[in-house]
Parts: sequence; C-alpha cells; structure tokens
Amino acid sequence: MSDVVNLLGLDADGLAQRCADWGQKPFRARQLMRWVHQRGEADFDAMSDLAKDFRAVLRQHAVVAAPPVLRDHESADGTRKWLLDVGAGNAVEAVFIPEADRGTLCVSTQAGCAVNCLFCSTGKQGFSRNLDAHEIVGQLWHANRALGAYATVGAARGEAGRVISNVVFMGMGEPLQNYAATLAALRIMLDDNAYGLSKRRVTVSTSGVVPMIDRLREDCPVALAVSLHAPNDALRDELVPLNRKYPLAELMAACRRYLERAPRDFITFEYVMLDGVNDSDAHAEQLLACVRSVPCKFNLIPFNPFPNAGLRRSPPERVRRFAQRLLDAGIVTTVRRTRGDDIDAACGQLAGEVQDRTRLRERDARRTIALVEAR
Ligand code: SAH
Ligand code: SF4
Repeated sequence: MSDVVNLLGLDADGLAQRCADWGQKPFRARQLMRWVHQRGEADFDAMSDLAKDFRAVLRQHAVVAAPPVLRDHESADGTRKWLLDVGAGNAVEAVFIPEADRGTLCVSTQAGCAVNCLFCSTGKQGFSRNLDAHEIVGQLWHANRALGAYATVGAARGEAGRVISNVVFMGMGEPLQNYAATLAALRIMLDDNAYGLSKRRVTVSTSGVVPMIDRLREDCPVALAVSLHAPNDALRDELVPLNRKYPLAELMAACRRYLERAPRDFITFEYVMLDGVNDSDAHAEQLLACVRSVPCKFNLIPFNPFPNAGLRRSPPERVRRFAQRLLDAGIVTTVRRTRGDDIDAACGQLAGEVQDRTRLRERDARRTIALVEAR
C-alpha cells in the first residue's frame, strides 16, 4: 500500500504530476482539488464528473483522510479544539477561534517542538516528529467539515459567509523547522481551486529560524509573526534557545528583508508577558531600541500557565503599562485576549500527547529555577 497517496497533502503541482502519472489531463487535477478542498469530499465515487476509470485508479492509489479525532472540546466562548491522532502515540491540536468579523483556525506543524522555549508546554514535551503536509492541511479540511462549512457553497473557499477566514500557524511546533510540509500546506491553503485564502489572512509564526524566513520570502510570502519575548540576547538566549544560533540583530535584519516581499507592511512581534522576567519598564525601553528598524505591531500575550511551568503571568497593570510604553512610541500594540482557556486551548497550552524521547522535563525545571532566581 506504500504507493497510496493522501491527496490532502498535494499542492497544485504535486497533484498535476500525480494525475499525469495516472494518464490524466491537467484539468482533472483541478477538478479533483475542488472536490477535495472545496466540497470536503473524501469518497471518489461521489465525484460525479470524474470518469469511472479515473475513479477506479483513485480508489486504488489515493485516499483523502484527515488525522483521526481523539477528542473534540468546545469552550464556553465558542472556541473549539480538536485533538488529532498522528500515530505512534503522538497527537496534535487544532483550535478554531470564532470572532465577530472572522473565524481563525490555529494549526500545528509538528508533534512536539525542538526549540524548547522555557515558557511553552509544547516545547517541554520535546520533539517527536514533523507532520506531513496532509496532516497540516487535514486540520483545516477536518475543521471545515466539523464546522459545517462545506454545507454552504463557497464557504470553505474564502468567499462571503466563510467559516474559516484566517489560518495561523501558531499551534504545536515550529513551522520553519518543518519547511517543506509547511510550504506545501501554505500553497494549498492559498490555491483558488482549494481554500483560496488571502496571503494576508494566513500567518506563519516563527521563533526566528533566520535562513527559513528568507526562504519563505522567496517561496510564499504570507503574513509573518515573530516570537520575540525578550529585548536583549542574554535574556532571549534563556527564553528562546534558538536565539543562540540566530541572535536578535540577525533576526531583525531577516524581518526587514521579509518585509520587502510580504503581503502586509509590518511584522507582528509576539511577546509573552512573564512576571518579573521580561516585563519591566527597562525591558520596554530596550525593546523599542531593538525593533527600531522594523515596521511592526506588537501582540502581548499574558503567559498561560501549565502544570509545573514555574513561571507566572504578569499582573494586568504591568501588561497595561508595558503596552502603553509601546503605544506611546507609536507602535500598534494589542494584548491578546485569552480564548478557550477553560479547555486548555490558549497559546502555549497546546500539549497534545507526544512520545517524549528526551529528558527535557528535568533539565527544564533546572533552567526555569535558575532564571527565576537570577532575577
Ligand atoms: N513555534 C512557533 C509557533 C507556535 S507558538 C512560535 O514559537 O512562534 C505560538 C505562540 O504562542 C508563540 O508566540 C509562543 O511563544 C506563544 N506561547 C508559547 N507558550 C506560551 C504560553 N505558555 N503562554 C502564552 N504564550 C505562549
Ligand atoms: Fe516551539 Fe514555538 Fe513552543 Fe518555542 S514557543 S517551543 S518555538 S512551539
């Protein structure tokens, strides 16, 4: 069965190639793409305008299947979270966040994450594996089906009445450390024969993988969010260990280069607010100096606790004061409202279930204690 391909992971070129291998004309690939992504159809026999012999080939060599759902939670505020089985004891999460003017799906790109940020529950689980493109797109396909989007013509395709209008790569994992699958998934999400999402409404969030920010700029520049979290290298080295490889000056330079091609004229910087760690007036001043050369907006995220995190959320008054300092300097700054925290669906609480192949937990407990005691 190794030559059975999951069509959810093939972008337009990939699907055209497969269809050519099966002796089909390019327009068949487009038809198939529309059935799968715009109609949410998984049954080849229901694809009524495909020739019977082509459907027989598809039955033999292809499937359309999202990762199986292990759990489905709905929060009091309408946030919905699915725990999806990606095999070998690993599970990842996808979260739908309804708002008045949009519906946002937050997708995962890896089971676990190797970056291991100090304040992130996904990172604390260690890295298990990269998701395939079909497992990333499968989250969107499944969410559209579960939310009933395919029942309304066009609603899954970025037209009026769409249920999911925005996708953010802010679930579990570091998308730019799973570049090939992330790129294929992005292309499918933007494709007019698939979801037709606008580049401005798809956001990749990265902890700062500098060479891959440059690749994304060339290959598929969508909106970019960068997880900053600290205004100087010494602190960022502790909070986001990847900073030791790509320090702030290099990261800021990559952000400037990205903006030359980006669909929006600013980078969104995310900054998790950690009590007594990165939230002082002095940190705000340093931060302004750090981002001086990058047109940006800030999204301050009050830290979402998880068991044994060993860190605390900054008090609201501190967050307000920090935000005010950035606003006074002319930077658009929002404080992220916590959504879905009654179902552990808030930022950084996505834990899924990962076969931890490391001994990170013990090591991290020491890292956190050392950091907090040093302050
Ligand atoms: N790996 C990517 C995308 C996933 S994380 C990245 O780090 O950007 C999405 C956002 O949630 C990041 O900004 C991340 O730093 C933030 N986050 C992680 N843990 C958090 C926590 N416990 N509380 C609040 N935000 C958190
Ligand atoms: Fe990975 Fe992002 Fe979590 Fe850091 S914050 S450990 S990069 S998922």
